[in-house]
Amino acid sequence: MIRPISLFNTLTRKVEPVVPLAPGLIKIYTCGPTVYNFAHIGNLRTFLFQDLMKRAFQAAGYQVRHCMNITDVEDKIIRDSQADLAPDATNEARHGAMQALTNKYTAFFLDDLDAMRIQKPDEMPRATDHIGQMKALIQQLIEKGLAYASEGSVYYRLAGFPHYGCLAHLDREGMQSGASVDVDEYEKDQAQDFVLWKAAKAGEPIWNSPWGPGRPGWHIECSAMGMEHLGDRIDIHTGGVDLIFPHHENEIAQSEGALGHQWVNAWVHGEFLMVEGEKMSKSLGNFYTLRDLLEKGYDPITFRYAIQSNHYRKLLNFSFEGLKAAENSLKRIRAFRRRMEGDGAAQAGGGDTWQEAIEPSKRLEEARAAFWLAMADDLNTPEALAAIFTLISDLNAQDDRIALTREERDAVLGFLDETDSIFSAWPHQSPEDGHAVAPGQILTAVLGGVVVHTGDVLSKDRIEAEVRARSAAKAEKNWAEADRIRDELKALGIVLEDHKDGTVGWHKA
Ligand code: AMP
Ligand code: ZN
Repeated sequence: MIRPISLFNTLTRKVEPVVPLAPGLIKIYTCGPTVYNFAHIGNLRTFLFQDLMKRAFQAAGYQVRHCMNITDVEDKIIRDSQADLAPDATNEARHGAMQALTNKYTAFFLDDLDAMRIQKPDEMPRATDHIGQMKALIQQLIEKGLAYASEGSVYYRLAGFPHYGCLAHLDREGMQSGASVDVDEYEKDQAQDFVLWKAAKAGEPIWNSPWGPGRPGWHIECSAMGMEHLGDRIDIHTGGVDLIFPHHENEIAQSEGALGHQWVNAWVHGEFLMVEGEKMSKSLGNFYTLRDLLEKGYDPITFRYAIQSNHYRKLLNFSFEGLKAAENSLKRIRAFRRRMEGDGAAQAGGGDTWQEAIEPSKRLEEARAAFWLAMADDLNTPEALAAIFTLISDLNAQDDRIALTREERDAVLGFLDETDSIFSAWPHQSPEDGHAVAPGQILTAVLGGVVVHTGDVLSKDRIEAEVRARSAAKAEKNWAEADRIRDELKALGIVLEDHKDGTVGWHKA
């Protein structure tokens, strides 16, 4: 059975049933992280909403094909990765430095996904592996009169695309034709011809192109990767609300301009995570990472639940009280699960047996219907969870009076499995109330220039091997390599101590 699901489509501003292009299959494209730093928990809110949506479709009986890109070339990545290079560094060195930074933070990002039980997308293309597709798409736009080269850069001609503004609902009157914008991020009132290919600048890694050396703009990256991996028609495209303009507006102009028809049926956007009323962002410096939460003793799955128990289209203020409340709710569901896994003998007969008994299997079906009614209505998770909590209260009370039979208990466990396949927070053998992931357990080592995506604690052996590699580098007077190893260990929380007698010790920061 396939259950229908409706979502709010930013394009039409309506909650609409999602009708897949191919029966039973939903193709989803997600704008992935810009990997120049740790993802903050605001970013993670967006990735959690996407995971919930994807899992809801799967649990509703659809097959999902999910593509999420990795943005590994972009203004901020270049700024941060090139800062320490000499002005005359080679292009190879520039690409190498950019890749070292993006590899490192891609690995940390994958750890975050694992820790929060976010399903790995079927495809995770990297922008730098798709420069050829981006150039081909730009060429196509030039041939259609929708883009033009100017001083080594290429710009999109807004005047050539009458639908421009359809997603962000812009007033075309106010747009400045002829003027162009070179940066990737700008405001709605600056809607202008935007850059597709950026001419080479000193201090930046570059690729060759028919328009001269340079690099892609951010917006063309997602159009090229989305079309390459999911094709000419996509069911759903997602991101946070800040991507509506200009990023997604520009993706529509690029892809639909080239294709000559609609590219994406539903554009679905998640609301922001705030801190003390302000949007959480790296530029404001008011952010936490998942590692910060771990250090404070919170489980990533508690965070997952705290986010997912709120509706994805409502602004959410992050607070530690919110995390504590999530912890308590999870305790209740997990305790109920353990109770249903048991045989009920201990509780039976303890309650008011004179009360009219309820019929557990009927209550269960009511709860399942209420759960799906809420999920089908634009992923209304607060109501879906309320259906579970009502069931818990009713069945706990009933089980106190007359123990549910094994069959009834198994049917309830089946419902808990079904709902956990979406929320992924109350699996079989749930921890009593402790951690699914121990602090420090998620750790990616970027050592010796190699990303070691272990998922394990950085082992003592591994640290000592790195200490030896550093000593060897020092013996060869390769100070740069020795410093790099020391700095990388430091970034992972390991501080080296150079003793007077030449031995090297270490401790955790
Ligand atoms: P970035 O790595 O900056 O490209 O962002 C990754 C995703 O996080 C994008 O979909 C953004 O829209 C989203 N995002 C950024 N800040 C927040 C926030 N404070 N709350 C929720 N989502 C956010
Ligand atoms: Zn994108």
